Amino acid sequence: MDDSAIGEILVPAEDLQRRVRELGAEISRDYEGRDLIMIGVLKGAVLFLADLMRELTVPCEIDFMAVSSYGSETDSSGVVRILKDLDSSIEGRNVVIVEDIIDSGLTLQYLLRNLRARNPASVEVCALLTKPDRRRVDLPIRYVGFEIPNRYVIGYGLDYAQRYRNLGCVAVLNDSDH
Ligand code: 5GP
Repeated sequence: MDDSAIGEILVPAEDLQRRVRELGAEISRDYEGRDLIMIGVLKGAVLFLADLMRELTVPCEIDFMAVSSYGSETDSSGVVRILKDLDSSIEGRNVVIVEDIIDSGLTLQYLLRNLRARNPASVEVCALLTKPDRRRVDLPIRYVGFEIPNRYVIGYGLDYAQRYRNLGCVAVLNDSDH
C-alpha cells in the first residue's frame, strides 16, 4: 500500500473494535424481541456493517443502498441520486440505517425522508463517525461511534479515490501530495 497518503491515525483499530462491540450490545438491547433490518449505505459502510452485525445477539436482516451526491468532491449538495435501491420492502419493519460518516448530513437527510416515505415501523441511524463542525442539518442520530474533527479521513471502509478502504484504522488523508 502507498503509505504516503496515510496521515495521523484518528481512531486505532483496537478502539474501532471496542466501540463496534459496544454499539452491537446497545442495538441488541434496544431490538430485543423486535424485528430488525439494517440498511448499509454502499460502499463506505460495508466494513462497519459486517463487523457490527457479528456483534448482534438478536436476529437481523441486511440490505443495501447506493447513493451518489451531486456536488464537488468534498462538498455534498443534498441532491442525491439512488444508484442501487433496496431489494425488498421495509413497510412495517424496524430499520437501522448504517452509515460510515455523517459530514454535512445532507445525504442522510435525503435517505431518512426517502425511507420514511416507505412506511417502516421505525427508522434509526447508526453512524461510525460524525463531524459535528460540518453539520448543516440537525438530524436524529441514535448511535454514534466517534465524533471527529473536520478532517478528510480514510480507512475502515472510507476511501480516497476508491482506495484505502481496507485500512484497519481511521486515519487522516495526508493531502500534501494528493
Ligand atoms: P454528507 O452528505 O453528510 O455531507 O456526506 C456524507 C458522505 O460524504 C459520506 O457517506 C462519505 O461518503 C463522504 N464523506 C464525508 N466525509 C468524508 C471523509 O472524511 N472521508 C471520506 N472518505 N468520505 C467522506
